[in-house]
Amino acid sequence: MGLGTTMREIPSVNSILSQPALREIPGVPREAIIAACRQVLQDLRRQLEEGEGPAPAVETIAKECALLAQRMARATPSPVINATGVVIHTNLGRAPLPRQAIEAMERASLYCDLETDLVTGQRGSRQVHVEELVTRVTGAASAIVCNNNAGAVLLSLSALARGREVIVARGELVEIGGSFRIPEIMEQSGAKLIEVGTTNRTRLADYEKAITPDTAAILKVHPSNYRIIGFVESAAAGELQALAQSKGIPLLYDCGSGLMTGLPGMDLGDEPLVPEIIALGCDIVTFSGDKLLGGPQAGIIAGKAQYLARVKRHPLARALRPDKTTLAALSATLRIYAFGRPLEDIPVLEMLTRPGEKLEDMAGSLASMLKEAVPQGRFCVLRGQSCPGGGSFPGVWLESWLVSVEVPGESAASLAKKLRQASPPVIARLHEGRLVMDVRTVPQDQLSTVAACFAGLKIPC
Ligand SMILES: *Cc1c(COP(=O)(O)O)cnc(C)c1O
Repeated sequence: MGLGTTMREIPSVNSILSQPALREIPGVPREAIIAACRQVLQDLRRQLEEGEGPAPAVETIAKECALLAQRMARATPSPVINATGVVIHTNLGRAPLPRQAIEAMERASLYCDLETDLVTGQRGSRQVHVEELVTRVTGAASAIVCNNNAGAVLLSLSALARGREVIVARGELVEIGGSFRIPEIMEQSGAKLIEVGTTNRTRLADYEKAITPDTAAILKVHPSNYRIIGFVESAAAGELQALAQSKGIPLLYDCGSGLMTGLPGMDLGDEPLVPEIIALGCDIVTFSGDKLLGGPQAGIIAGKAQYLARVKRHPLARALRPDKTTLAALSATLRIYAFGRPLEDIPVLEMLTRPGEKLEDMAGSLASMLKEAVPQGRFCVLRGQSCPGGGSFPGVWLESWLVSVEVPGESAASLAKKLRQASPPVIARLHEGRLVMDVRTVPQDQLSTVAACFAGLKIPC
């Protein structure tokens, strides 16, 4: 068969468009349907050129076009129900925002007084919307916000240590998910990494010996997502601060998670509390906005005014500045810490401290709603464990309540896939070969939505 014959097998865009499957798709603009057809036909042409044939029937092609058009027209990222029990789930957007933050983003989304002082009419700094709140909540003298914590660390090192040495313990040369590696960030900043100690043990004296006239700073990094246990030793932030101060250099502490307040009933493990770290006198503290702080993606640098002044002047501060909606959401979140009820109004904290009895009740009502939605299914309430996630509280698990799901003739993996494609998608977890849903990360008012998703699944009776 020559190339010409093969190409003639491909239907025209118009003949596909006139197929019943494509005449009208509710909620999908005509333009998206046409774009999808062009794309599918182009892919088909390439396949045929590569010798894969014959072309499928026109009806089959039209169905494929319809699916692609629907996908193209869907606004993403789109909401999902997180039933994994992982509270700060990076792949699901980390912290769900407080209602106040969502409203603040909307208010700031058109023209707003981002950099205008409404009293004087003069140009102001966008940081005013958050700096005073960060200092109020953390106790630091000064602060600046950039677009994530990786940026905060990069900016701090660039401003304070470019071309000079920074001392870090070997056990703290961490990699955080998404390829944030301390040695690489250090290299980007132009600072020279001086490693001290061993993987499991670093003493204050190791730092002390490494300090030279070329030392610009000591960096302490919270090993967010792992824990070394056994024969371990590390220098405490307080001792490091005293050492740094006696040598006239700053201590930078990358805390990672941004925990602002104690959580009743929860063992904090090694998780540092930002206000305590500031109270110890650390010169520069960096942390994320969307981990335990529970706000939008942001990186916060808080600390002493003399060092913050250098950070604020650095050109990277401009390159890493956050946009107006981020600042609005962060400001609203910080306001909850300053003047509101963080354990109730910040979803991350509410989920982490949700009482056992409430979780058990929720699992019970979810199971009974599911039994009604899918009579042939088997739904059991069982104890389980949720995970704080987001590289926080390494080694800490929270007692929780799960609902396990078994449907005759459906594997756990196939059920999980169908649920991911439900509307809205439900993200569950596989546990010992069974599909389980952890109610800790499901808002109470969405339990019935989960049941409705099950009712809508195409599963054999
Ligand atoms: C998460 C984390 C980072 C990176 O923060 P992003 O806000 O994701 O950029 C850096 N350092 C530590 C210790 C972390 O836990």
